[in-house]
Amino acid sequence: MVCGTKLRIYKTIFTRIQPNSLFLIALKNKKHFDIIICGGGAAGLLLAHGLIQNNAFDHLSIALIEKEQKNQNDRTWCFWEEGKGKWDHLVSSRWDNAIFQSQQYNANFSLAPYQYKMIEGINFYNHLYPLLEKAPNLELIQAEITEVNASDKYGEVSTHEATYTGDKVFSSIPKEEYKQQQKFPVLQQHFIGWFVKTEAPIFDQDTMVFMDFDLDQKNNTRFMYVLPFSPTEALVEYTLFSKDLVKDEEYEAEITQYLNQRKAGKVSVTATEKGSIPMTAYNFDQHNSAHLMHIGTAGGWTKASTGFTFQKSQEKINALIEFLKKEKALDQFPQRNKFNFYDMLFLDVLAKYNGEGSELFSRMFQRNTPQRIFQFLDEKTSYRQEVLLMSSFPIGRFVKALFKRVFSL
Ligand SMILES: Cc1cc2nc3c(=O)[nH]c(=O)nc-3n(C[C@H](O)[C@H](O)[C@H](O)COP(=O)(O)OP(=O)(O)OC[C@H]3O[C@@H](n4cnc5c(N)ncnc54)[C@H](O)[C@@H]3O)c2cc1C
Repeated sequence: MVCGTKLRIYKTIFTRIQPNSLFLIALKNKKHFDIIICGGGAAGLLLAHGLIQNNAFDHLSIALIEKEQKNQNDRTWCFWEEGKGKWDHLVSSRWDNAIFQSQQYNANFSLAPYQYKMIEGINFYNHLYPLLEKAPNLELIQAEITEVNASDKYGEVSTHEATYTGDKVFSSIPKEEYKQQQKFPVLQQHFIGWFVKTEAPIFDQDTMVFMDFDLDQKNNTRFMYVLPFSPTEALVEYTLFSKDLVKDEEYEAEITQYLNQRKAGKVSVTATEKGSIPMTAYNFDQHNSAHLMHIGTAGGWTKASTGFTFQKSQEKINALIEFLKKEKALDQFPQRNKFNFYDMLFLDVLAKYNGEGSELFSRMFQRNTPQRIFQFLDEKTSYRQEVLLMSSFPIGRFVKALFKRVFSL
């Protein structure tokens, strides 16, 4: 990032000055931008890119503050999409077929008209950062943010080196408040994934495994997620939807067992990924104000019932770009809809009966086409389709959850 030099200069200054001079330097460095984006991961980059691509924002000064160099392949993003997509040139693998598997139900289905696509984080960063560096009205600042606040006049972002103010501040810096509340259960989608090369050709490269529940559930919702790249190469991810994380050795032992059962032969692990994504109906919007909006996972843009975030963030950014042209207060941006309610009920049930996730998902796939399920998860179904989908689930559990919510309001 261009501002690595800037960061080094700040560090040199700070090592030579006395602590009481820090305040003066911080004031001197105070800088104002029209827009500040905190965090240059998926949501921050999608927003920055949306802004510099749109002439309506050419007159605005924009800063993007990110603490890392973003030169590692720290994650892969997958999502389903109909037809051609905006990021197709960055897609490294795609699948037309998928498998759902459990003790109750097995299906091998075509995803058409969708494709399941994968973007490697490093390709996304390598494509977007150079574009942002070239934008004349955008400044990239590499620094660790220590605080993000907002007054009724502007938002304020502090780093160790300086304080910045912005008419509009967007923050994707992870927030933890949702963990401290009791109103909504918090599950995590947590996983370890191994990129493996196997001796034996055990993968079907045209067919990804969306969810394989045919594992010991240990009273949780546990499944394997497999993205095959060739008959001998795949990303194999042991995933849980549960409240508590497990030890790394447990995820790894399950992946090893899964590969052994499929007679993979000698296995080499070429890379790994690890994640823990919040799944909660907590209302993240309550932390937004006229000059500060939280975006990405920190803004509640993770689909609460699945943990998918990338595609939803892109859709939110598209709507946000249009909204910003109207010059309204940021907390006027419409965020919530009936799908938040469905997610809330689903998570209430999944948290309470965590060992029944396999059955819930099996019923959903058994009684609906995958296309309807994806449409529903994309929040694009009609009421009629939603009723059909809801009726797949054990009705008693959901009615109970509904009553509990209604009477606790
Ligand atoms: C391993 C992994 C795999 C995932 N796979 C998928 C997937 O396949 N599909 C999907 O839809 N979702 C996936 N997700 C979930 C989600 O899409 C990603 O986490 C996504 O990156 C979220 O975007 P974000 O902008 O909210 O957060 P991030 O992309 O994490 O961006 C936040 C940025 O803020 C920076 N930052 C944090 N703290 C500070 C600070 N104090 N100062 C300055 N900068 C800071 C971070 O370095 C980071 O660059 C995955 C998550 C993980 C962890």
